[in-house]
Amino acid sequence: MTISMPSHEVTPRYPDSRDILNKLRFLPGEGQIWLGEQRMLLMQLHTMATFRHEIIRTLGLKRAKSFFLRLGYHSGLKDAELARAVRGQEMSVEDGFLTGPQLHSLRGLVKVIPLALEIDPSRGHFYGEFEWQDSYEVAISEQLESSLGEPVCWMQLGYACAYSSQFLGQEIQYREVECRGRGDARCRIIGRPAHEWEDHATFAEHFREDPLIDELYELQSRIAYLEDDIARHKGDEHYRPIGQSPAFLGALDLIDRAARSEVPILLLGETGTGKEILAHRAHQQSDRAEGPFVAVNCAAIPPDLIESELFGVEKGAYTGAVQSRAGRFERADGGTLFLDELAELSPRAQAALLRALQEKQIERVGGQRSYTIDVRIVAATHGDLMERVQDGRFRADLFYRLNAYPVVIPPLRDRRDDIPLLAEHFLERFECHYHVKTLGFSDQAMALLRAHGWPGNIRELQNLIERGVILAGDGNSVSEQALFGQHPGHKAGQTLSESGHIGQASETGSDDLLSSLCDQVLEAEVSLDALEQALLEKAYREAGHNVSAAARRLGMSRAALDYRLKKRCML
Ligand SMILES: [Zn+2]
Repeated sequence: MTISMPSHEVTPRYPDSRDILNKLRFLPGEGQIWLGEQRMLLMQLHTMATFRHEIIRTLGLKRAKSFFLRLGYHSGLKDAELARAVRGQEMSVEDGFLTGPQLHSLRGLVKVIPLALEIDPSRGHFYGEFEWQDSYEVAISEQLESSLGEPVCWMQLGYACAYSSQFLGQEIQYREVECRGRGDARCRIIGRPAHEWEDHATFAEHFREDPLIDELYELQSRIAYLEDDIARHKGDEHYRPIGQSPAFLGALDLIDRAARSEVPILLLGETGTGKEILAHRAHQQSDRAEGPFVAVNCAAIPPDLIESELFGVEKGAYTGAVQSRAGRFERADGGTLFLDELAELSPRAQAALLRALQEKQIERVGGQRSYTIDVRIVAATHGDLMERVQDGRFRADLFYRLNAYPVVIPPLRDRRDDIPLLAEHFLERFECHYHVKTLGFSDQAMALLRAHGWPGNIRELQNLIERGVILAGDGNSVSEQALFGQHPGHKAGQTLSESGHIGQASETGSDDLLSSLCDQVLEAEVSLDALEQALLEKAYREAGHNVSAAARRLGMSRAALDYRLKKRCML
């Protein structure tokens, strides 16, 4: 059967709509509206317009169009179900089919006028042509500031595609060949089996979800990689290890010695001690220096994403994985992969990492294929990994593999002589960054920098100096107040000892000094026991292991010190 009618004839031959109207129930007492088995909403057009404009602004035209096509698509599927339930048995296929356009009109979306309809299920033949009058999407888009330059009835088009495909059991696609929203005289759509459209595959892409988050994540990880790369090529200034203290030089020496071998290096040390810079040092000193250096902070990536981040992901591995992408392992091929905060790895990621180390092969998440990779691992942790092994939270086999060459990075408080060097380095960097020229650190500020406890290590120092440079501004000294936010004179009684240490010889300011020391100890969360141990050790060592001299410095009797040293097995 073919219905053909010129478009000026405005009376479509729809079946009586009473049966579907009967399916519409308003239950104001319940706060509900129902159409068949679907709960409906009565919504202002204006709300929808606001929604649509915001989606276009947020996602851009192309993504917004796909979004609304899909929105209409879901609605079309539901209506096809309803149409079949209400009219499937009683009417001809054509009349049954026209339920869709009738429902579309009933819901106030558009007035649909059939221009041509040919359905022959035995041959799989379909041709439909409809005019849309008073499309709500045209009404909405007229409120847009400028024309989009293309047809605008997206949701309705998605609806038509889904309704027809679902109702007829074969994929039907429509195109809006004319649209008032584009300036045409009317809106008109044509529907055919999908394969009859040359661009059917491209069009079908609209109906595939394309989550922004996946793309953002991919971009984020690409940016991180590029930033690393840029930093490496900028003369490596950012990555230059700084320090001359024996503790630091000792660690550096260990790293340099291991660099040229392929043994995995495990960096141990508190947070903020500059482990990434030392990992980069190992890379730079190795034969892989020309290859990539890729850093991953395992603690910064959500546990359910860590595997795909490290090993990559194959398209379709999970909802949202719409495109395959390489992981950090593949990016580091031929170079060095730095795994910071290693202890945070999930058990699954640990297993995959072990395999990568043992077999030098990785598999992307959701993939079948193995990729051979040539990557040198430098790992780091601030926690006690051995404790995690004993608790069963970290695989012992992986631990022993990674722990082949452990290097302990000293905390900043154990390399105080490096503080001025580091402080000047950061000062220069932030002056350059903020385009200011300060007069350098005040003496009081520098003395406090040296005396501070530095629980956050170099990172804390760096943050403090950034703040100091900002607060000091052009042409001023970086003062104690700019650094620590205290008023100058707060510790007015303090003096510096000959060795540059603060307040040791002061009588007048001893109360202030004690209070400041207490603040530092408490802030650094140092236990009383550890404090006593460190104090005894230092006094004893600096007195050349002379108990009497050390006791004098500590203001206690020789016997008392002797007793304490013995108790601590230091004598
Ligand atoms: Zn239109």
